[in-house]
Amino acid sequence: MLPSRFVSAVEGCDAAVMGRSHALSGAVVWLGGCALAAGLGARPAVGAVVVGAAVTAGGALLPDVDHPGSVVARSLGPLTRLIARGAAAGAAALRTASCGCCAGRGGHRAVTHTFVFAVTAGLLVSLLCWVGGDVAAAVVAGMAAALAVRGVLRRRTRGAYGAAGSGLLVGLMAAALPGPVAGWWWVGLPLGLGCLVHSLGDALTFSRVPLLWPIRIRGCRWAPLGMWAPLRFRTGSAAELLLVVPALMLLGVISAWTLITP
Ligand SMILES: [Zn+2]
Ligand SMILES: [Zn+2]
Repeated sequence: MLPSRFVSAVEGCDAAVMGRSHALSGAVVWLGGCALAAGLGARPAVGAVVVGAAVTAGGALLPDVDHPGSVVARSLGPLTRLIARGAAAGAAALRTASCGCCAGRGGHRAVTHTFVFAVTAGLLVSLLCWVGGDVAAAVVAGMAAALAVRGVLRRRTRGAYGAAGSGLLVGLMAAALPGPVAGWWWVGLPLGLGCLVHSLGDALTFSRVPLLWPIRIRGCRWAPLGMWAPLRFRTGSAAELLLVVPALMLLGVISAWTLITP
């Protein structure tokens, strides 16, 4: 259970707390998709299942790069903290520049929480893996897996070891496996999907996201979209810990089981 002082410490900026749900939901969406494909007769290759799940889970933590307290911002110490600070500043500047009514609203849950960002990030990673082949795919998969594990485990030290180990494992696996379906260009798909899953997840919470930027809605390009108010839940709340996390885990186990059993 989450200590209450931790909740109050990050009140208003839940990027640090939400990591676990984001990473889990990313993995579950990919595993569920693979289970569905298998059910329809198109059994995906093992490499596509494992690497895809790792990349979707890691990708589902990426949009919070605009928040200095997030899992991804703290993943590689001062380096990622610096990147996160830059991303936050850039996102804030873009928000102010691209909509008259949005000046000074900050950079968190801005451009990195849009459909455009998910597609762009996915395309860039696809390009990288297409050009860089096995090595690029192994690096992307390994980093995504490490990030995802850091998001799921709560204790920071345990997280660091677990993250490094699982990152290495998935990276080696990706390098050793023959590229399913003619190469690794498709790795951008789970990455973009992960980003989208993140933004949709945020949209279910109290802080909504400008998913459809730059489309103008009621005069604002950063119009926050989200769940109908009574159904939203607060991040780090009992609803998340007792309902969302177990439900995600159950779905993941069912999907994985479907894929393992012949
Ligand atoms: Zn977010
Ligand atoms: Zn606006």
